[in-house]
Amino acid sequence: MQYENTLEFARQLDAQDPLRAFRERFFIPRHNGQDTVYFTGNSLGLQPKATRDYIGQELDDWASLGVEGHFQARNPWLHYHEQFPALLAPLLGAKPEEVVAMNQLTVNLHLLMATFYRPTKGRYKILCEAKAFPSDQYALESQARLHGFDPADAIVEVHPRPGEHYLREDDILEAINQHGAQLALVLFGGVNYYSGQVLPMKVITDVAHNVGAYAGFDLAHAAGNVALKLHEWDVDFACWCSYKYLNSGPGSVAGAFIHERHCRNTELPRMAGWWGYEKETRFQMKPLFKAIPSAEGWQLSNAPVLSMAAHHAALDLFAEAGFESLCAKSRQLTGYLFHVLDAINAAQEVRVIEVITPREEDARGCQVSMLMLQKGRDVFRALTDRGVVADWREPNVIRVAPVPLYNSFEDVWRFGEIIREIL
Ligand SMILES: *Cc1c(COP(=O)(O)O)cnc(C)c1O
Repeated sequence: MQYENTLEFARQLDAQDPLRAFRERFFIPRHNGQDTVYFTGNSLGLQPKATRDYIGQELDDWASLGVEGHFQARNPWLHYHEQFPALLAPLLGAKPEEVVAMNQLTVNLHLLMATFYRPTKGRYKILCEAKAFPSDQYALESQARLHGFDPADAIVEVHPRPGEHYLREDDILEAINQHGAQLALVLFGGVNYYSGQVLPMKVITDVAHNVGAYAGFDLAHAAGNVALKLHEWDVDFACWCSYKYLNSGPGSVAGAFIHERHCRNTELPRMAGWWGYEKETRFQMKPLFKAIPSAEGWQLSNAPVLSMAAHHAALDLFAEAGFESLCAKSRQLTGYLFHVLDAINAAQEVRVIEVITPREEDARGCQVSMLMLQKGRDVFRALTDRGVVADWREPNVIRVAPVPLYNSFEDVWRFGEIIREIL
């Protein structure tokens, strides 16, 4: 598409956008009496206006029914979590029985590693990206220690080449092959939180399997952002959080994917709890764990219904909008952002902004990471003063993410105008 960096053009794209009405379904934070340019849906997604009603329903049922709400609530709590697989499956490219909403992201990562990181003397290494999200680094490091390995030896990181900002597929595959015989697990962020790069998940999975390792992904920045096909790609496991692109509220319930061929193997070792126990006989409370032969077999505890209500409100919006349509808008919206930033750079004598997110549509989601070559802190402060909500990462990166559910082309144009004014 030929983009133009004008307000009229941005408004024309908004007028043609079949999803434009969804913005009205969210609370947009305000700044000096005007909507902010909210570009941090990659950190905390905005609140759907319906969320209060979804939670209110459960509060009302709790107030009037007490413990009977487990059976008598409008959405009986005993089965509340069972509503999620059907809503999540299209976003993850999974079969419903392969997904479960539970716990928090880092907790799920540990639970899945309890099953899929079973190191032996010869095969104990974990391959991941350099500078993985800190929580993931700590999780990997502690898992290696838990099994008696030295993280410095057990954890292998793949780096971007000097002077580059994201990973080359060839380098990842070469690293997998190089450590192949010793690799127990290949674990990457599906979308890198810093650069916004989408990793080639299918290829990574294939090559990991070729060397005899499991392949898992942290989808914190992928779920609800980019199209995924976890089942078809044969990914072993994945986990994500729901408060970023999935708009389910701070610290809301997270999710996990376990491939069907593993789900069916109820003998797989795992951390077990009563909510993962075979449903027909769960309440006989007998000894000896019997796993549900689906992703639910990894559940530990009964469902956190209040946070799940917020999750439900948000996922209903995804279902209504249709994830394919959202992805199509996202590509345009971020394509427009690239255009606007290019125009700004072209107008500067000395380049101020270096975009470190891949340009190719298949290699990025909606996030654009701007490496500030000068005045980074000042620009960021000025953006905040002018009502742009963006995100600062040390040492000098500003991350912005126009999301298709509630951001507009006019937001992108305004963002560009504000940057131009600041510079
Ligand atoms: C946001 C994020 C987390 C956060 O973990 P929580 O357990 O939800 O606090 C972890 N890993 C990655 C890659 C993230 O982007």
